[in-house]
Amino acid sequence: MTAIPFDNSYVRLPDHFFARRAPTPVAAPRLIHLNRALAANLGIDPDWLAGPAGVGTLAGNEIPDGAEPIATAYAGHQFGNFVPQLGDGRAVLLGEVVDHDGRRRDVQLKGSGPTAFSRRGDGRAALGPVLREYLVSEAMAALGIPTTRALAAVATGEPVLRETRLPGAVLARVAASHIRVGTFQYFAARGDTEAVRALADHALARHDPEASSAEHPYRALLDGVVARQADLVAAWLLVGFVHGVMNTDNMSVAGETIDYGPCAFLDAYDPRTSFSSIDAHGRYAYDQQPGIALWNLTRLAETLVPLLADDEVAAVEAAETALAGFRPRFEAAYHGGLARKLGLSGDRDGDTALAEDLLARMADNRADFTLTFRRLCDAAERPEADAGVRDLFVDPTAYDAWAVRWRERLAEGGRNPVATAAAMRAVNPAFIPRNHRVEAMISAAVERGDFGPFEELSAVLSRAYDDQPDYARYAEAPKGGGAGYRTFC
Ligand code: AMP
Ligand code: MG
Ligand code: MG
Repeated sequence: MTAIPFDNSYVRLPDHFFARRAPTPVAAPRLIHLNRALAANLGIDPDWLAGPAGVGTLAGNEIPDGAEPIATAYAGHQFGNFVPQLGDGRAVLLGEVVDHDGRRRDVQLKGSGPTAFSRRGDGRAALGPVLREYLVSEAMAALGIPTTRALAAVATGEPVLRETRLPGAVLARVAASHIRVGTFQYFAARGDTEAVRALADHALARHDPEASSAEHPYRALLDGVVARQADLVAAWLLVGFVHGVMNTDNMSVAGETIDYGPCAFLDAYDPRTSFSSIDAHGRYAYDQQPGIALWNLTRLAETLVPLLADDEVAAVEAAETALAGFRPRFEAAYHGGLARKLGLSGDRDGDTALAEDLLARMADNRADFTLTFRRLCDAAERPEADAGVRDLFVDPTAYDAWAVRWRERLAEGGRNPVATAAAMRAVNPAFIPRNHRVEAMISAAVERGDFGPFEELSAVLSRAYDDQPDYARYAEAPKGGGAGYRTFC
């Protein structure tokens, strides 16, 4: 029996889709953390993976039977500027497995050494960003948001040179695929329509198999990507997530959150927030994300135009029709999600206005996003709990005025308060990866070799919707509402 039941398909695509490249071995691999449940779901024995051969594989020191390591080619718009060749500069796709739920999934090593696409980069990853991606991607999964998953983190025993010398690490990442908007752009920019078609056929087979038999399969593919991205961005907004670097090479056609770099969560609600030090103009700010997603999808649609109809006018019209589906899909998901966060049952006129009025008052009063909604769950159950919510507002009367109308609407819904609160707690997390906690976790690991905070924070976040009174400190907002927090990638 092979240790990892590879069943590879991307490597069967034409040669110019990728460059074969084995990971570069590292000095002293040491397992930091293994996602045993995910390993088991992939059909990999967690005990094997935690043993010497498994850790050697996760570090890139050993190539398991059936692996066919490649770096994939892609292009991308970075902050609006088109770069015709990016590609996996510090990652290799070991291969694919079909998991216990019948889903085909990529197993990729990130930080595994140089590839044909590295340019001047070293192909490596520092420990801090690896732990951040591990923790935040697994938290997103626990929040119920589509995401790549973290299978393992391994310390390399080698330094990486950034501004300073930092400990190195490799992340083993699992994804529905690593096909990006930028993958389509790579071939379209070269005028290689046959490659765009082959990639689209591959994406259809993987992500929209029922669409393969549609009258217009490529339009159905575009519709599928549009719908998934609309739902994804709505889900981000509903938990206060800022991706931070929504370049077209960081947008997956599978609809998963991918490439966790300078991402962060809102503390105080301010829709203009952008955390990333490289996003000075706020292109990828919290409230810009739906518009940017549509901009990226428009770039995808452009690559597909030659496949959408025989004549160009009809093809462009088909692309525009597909893109026009984004706004209504996003708004239904976002507004529906806001109504659920407020415990509003049955769709009534005025629900969106009620939710938007709360958000405006939160923004004016620097109310903590996650705590406001979580404490509203208690307030729905017992009006005395209003005190906990109003405390979050600089001017607590801004909440009082809104709460009167909210209660009227809840009463119209006619659900009993306990049921309403329970439904709200299932969509309003008690715990998110608070930026100050993530930073403290990274400092402990990088500066002191202490992975205790990583373990504890990971465990708490794996039950994001459960009150965990012993860990209430992880739910707390930072002093000053987190103003001025910056991320670096
Ligand atoms: P990212 O900002 O991580 O989405 O990466 C953008 C591009 O830069 C991708 O092509 C990456 O593979 C490449 N890249 C990022 N970091 C490195 C590195 N340390 N070595 C080589 N390539 C890198
Ligand atoms: Mg090749
Ligand atoms: Mg990237």
